[in-house]
Amino acid sequence: MTNINFNKTLAITTIAFALSSCGAQSVSERNTEERFVDSIVARMDIKQKIGQLIQFTSSDNIEEMENIARSGMMGSILNDVNPEHVNRLQKAALESPSGIPVLIGRDVIHGYKTIFPIPLGQAATFDTALVRKGSEISALEATADGIKWTFSPMLDIARDPRWGRIAEGYGEDPYLTSVMGEAAIRGYQANGNLTKNSAIAACAKHFVGYGASTSGRDYNSTYIPMNQLHNVYLPPFEAAVKAGVQTFMSSFNDNDGVPSTGNKYILDDVLREMWNFDGFVVSDWNSVGEMINHGFCSDPKDAAYKAITAGLDMDMVSNCYLEQLENLLQEGKISEQLITERCKNIVRVKYRLGLFQNPYIVTSQDVKYAPEHLAAAQKAAEESAVLIKNVNNTLPITKAVKRILVTGPMADAPHDQLGTWVFDGDKHHTVTVLKALQDNENYQVTYIPAITYSRDKNTKEIAKAVAAAKNCDLILFVGGEESILSGEAHCLANLNLQGTQSQLLESIKKTNKPVVAVIMAGRPLTIKRDLENCDAMIYMFHPGTMGGPALVNILNGEVNPSGKLPVTFPISVGQIPTYYGKSMTGRPADGTETLLNDIPAEAGQTSLGCTTYHLDDGFHPLLPFGYGLSYTNFEYKDLQLSGNTFKQGDEIKVKCKVSNVGERDGATIVQLYVRDLVASIVRPVLELKDFKRVEIPAGQTIDVEFSLPVSRLEFYNLDNKMTLEPGKFKLWIAQDSNLKDALETEFEIK
Ligand code: BGC
Repeated sequence: MTNINFNKTLAITTIAFALSSCGAQSVSERNTEERFVDSIVARMDIKQKIGQLIQFTSSDNIEEMENIARSGMMGSILNDVNPEHVNRLQKAALESPSGIPVLIGRDVIHGYKTIFPIPLGQAATFDTALVRKGSEISALEATADGIKWTFSPMLDIARDPRWGRIAEGYGEDPYLTSVMGEAAIRGYQANGNLTKNSAIAACAKHFVGYGASTSGRDYNSTYIPMNQLHNVYLPPFEAAVKAGVQTFMSSFNDNDGVPSTGNKYILDDVLREMWNFDGFVVSDWNSVGEMINHGFCSDPKDAAYKAITAGLDMDMVSNCYLEQLENLLQEGKISEQLITERCKNIVRVKYRLGLFQNPYIVTSQDVKYAPEHLAAAQKAAEESAVLIKNVNNTLPITKAVKRILVTGPMADAPHDQLGTWVFDGDKHHTVTVLKALQDNENYQVTYIPAITYSRDKNTKEIAKAVAAAKNCDLILFVGGEESILSGEAHCLANLNLQGTQSQLLESIKKTNKPVVAVIMAGRPLTIKRDLENCDAMIYMFHPGTMGGPALVNILNGEVNPSGKLPVTFPISVGQIPTYYGKSMTGRPADGTETLLNDIPAEAGQTSLGCTTYHLDDGFHPLLPFGYGLSYTNFEYKDLQLSGNTFKQGDEIKVKCKVSNVGERDGATIVQLYVRDLVASIVRPVLELKDFKRVEIPAGQTIDVEFSLPVSRLEFYNLDNKMTLEPGKFKLWIAQDSNLKDALETEFEIK
């Protein structure tokens, strides 16, 4: 094999093939791109090609890393975010025989330096523009340290709050996850202008089904049948391809016995054949090697073979590709053509990112924590807050309230407020609730945390908080979960507030002072008891750097809360999984069921109604998907459809009027749900098909219009085809998935 150094030629070729936006590529741009990629790959020997398929993790020994890059064996590295190192690695890579720059990856999940609410909180905003803006800012800050690739967004549908990674995604719903993921991708990737200095490649992960892990334990097996896979778990990933996502990550789990990293059906048949994806797929951390632990592969060679033939381009850190691909080639098990194709997929993405033109860091360090970034993070935190309870107009705080007792473990928790997956955000930039309240001259703040961290079992200090309550007008409890309790590998079997938090709440409630509870957490918690022990509750999925001022603006009414739950809140762990889009059953519960304490002694076998519910917790969750209160009220009326019957290719125009009937301006999320009444497979009770975030001044009414493409009513049937079946549908315009006061109509597909 010849190792020709062709850096100079490469530079000239790069300039000749002027880079272009790959948002919507023209044929000629595409041809230029492929010619460029072919010209690079044509000059590479097999070692250099394999080198592109390898991802290393950072090491303290930068010289060693430089040597690897210089040898051409480093396609990518993750986790080195030292700008000096990054530039050194790029220089070394340019000196390698192939002269191909390294792709620097990092988990930039909800902000780089400026930390936004965790993705679950971002989903609660139902504000795609805000999510896009947040990703744009994250990308810009990340490029200041040379990062050109993030392992985000996570598009796993998560219907089990025990699973710690529920924090990292957009919740339980395929449509909401699809549009949020699309917004994040457009933000990271500068809407397709990937050559922009501020753009980074996004990664749709974890492909696929990872969120359905049995019993909510991370890395556990999943059992997702084919039609559910296509109707629930795959749509957000397909939307990601349509949004131009450049990379995918295969997931750790096996689904029905096949680990994703070796699953040809999903990596090749679906992703490349059905969806025409032309970026590259990286494994999850060591997931190639872990196919041996699954008992799916006998040794590293077998693992490398199964992964590369299934469709995996890049091996994250397992070394199976590094050590085995040449052996497999020599043994004739794989062809050079296969390695070339995998290599081209990676080189193509590097080309699109403009790395050949611009391998070194350009972005200035000043962008980190820029005031406009902090303002955007604050807005996101404000919109992500969900008002769950508000009796007696406890909130917003009136002018009469001056003396506030602040208690609870999250009131002054600069680290934990940021949430999971924060490698780079510095807690010293966090503005906590306590700090934001103390900075507000309208309030006299007494701070008695009583509990210092969420798992603290201390009871001794509770009496102090209770005593201090006497001299205050309102008690603000800020509790929840430390950031370490959610995220990867942080799953829980019990979801009550940890430590003695519930006891603290109960004790302060007994003082008869108004109690406002704020929960900052990475997941839905089972807070039934705690809801009873407060007058108002605001749920904030870990809100990030600016969570404190965001909350204070909501407390004092400067901001009217508008967040809605992107995931169902169960009453108890025993109700899990509970999600709104469940299948229609033969014996649905209708609310007339007899509950445990109402069963007469010696009741007969069939006296309870025989429907699908739990004797103790019934069938309603604690809080439904889409739920969230406001300081004002909204009323919906005059629902109109553009017809009664529609066919494939039509757009259904749906109109209604929404009034703000209260005394404050406010925003709400108008939600459009459908039910396919009769189909060839059992369909969900409800499916969210669209939503609109609208701001309405007090006392005013606006027209809200949706344009629902009939194609959105298709589903994957038992013949393994996307299909639109004729028949009747119900449609609701609603304030949440419980359909209270919703407008309802029917239409037919012919
Ligand atoms: C996680 C991925 C992450 C990767 C790299 C893995 O453990 O599952 O989501 O992107 O590590 O840090």
